[in-house]
Amino acid sequence: MKNRIPLMIVLTIIYACVITSRSFSLFVNPIERPVIQFGMDSTMVDSLLNHKLETSRFLFRYSAKFRYADQLQSRVSSYESFCDTVSHILQLPKSTLKTPIYLYADSVEQLLCFKGWSALRENQAFTGPNEIHANGLGAIEHEIVHVLANNLIAYAKSVFFAEGIEQYVEIVRSDEVFRKDLRIAKKFISKPWDKWANDTIGFWATGEDESIVVAYPVSGLFVKFLLQHSNLEIFKEFYRAIRTEVSTEAAFYKIYKYPLSKAISDFKKDILSW
Ligand SMILES: [Zn+2]
Repeated sequence: MKNRIPLMIVLTIIYACVITSRSFSLFVNPIERPVIQFGMDSTMVDSLLNHKLETSRFLFRYSAKFRYADQLQSRVSSYESFCDTVSHILQLPKSTLKTPIYLYADSVEQLLCFKGWSALRENQAFTGPNEIHANGLGAIEHEIVHVLANNLIAYAKSVFFAEGIEQYVEIVRSDEVFRKDLRIAKKFISKPWDKWANDTIGFWATGEDESIVVAYPVSGLFVKFLLQHSNLEIFKEFYRAIRTEVSTEAAFYKIYKYPLSKAISDFKKDILSW
């Protein structure tokens, strides 16, 4: 998955997110929901995605044509335990959230069930308020982080920090990912990360290295930096404040008491020694 996504988006806030070469996702901001109708067609879902697999946390819907159906059962417990891992890393409250996961055999099926933007490409997924749409099984874990963060912290309003949380989970889980992300971030250290962090420069316009959109490593490492210098609860307050304040900078200043741009320049100095 590369960094340009031909979306048919009519109104504003669609948070698209591309993760490494593996997956891709979209956030839909429920407050600024577009006037143009898009979303699930439940009649179509009922008639087309007529296979169900329900667990304590998920409800998978798919058709007989879904090509990974035979692998689904064996993947389910890993998704369940992944939720526990994410909840532990992000210290999330206990949840009874049950997330529908729509698995599409092809783009026709997707566009019949979910209207409003272009079709998923190979091994892609996107996230709605509390649901995941995918055409394979590889991208689902990434989306699970978004769904949990959306529902148990706050509805993401900043692409940079929504992806930052997700990428932070990845670097906590894997030293290899951390080292790779650090390597990439250092290569791009002269870039205006403050403009990335306030979404002035679009997440997917930040360039690509080692098949990763560069904003992923930078956002995840910046979240790590913030957590090192403060704590998770403060970060969550900031994350929630992005929703309520006029800008990401305003939210940052309100919670951390110093400018976002200063934090970014401190972060740049810091990671050189990581
Ligand atoms: Zn994402």
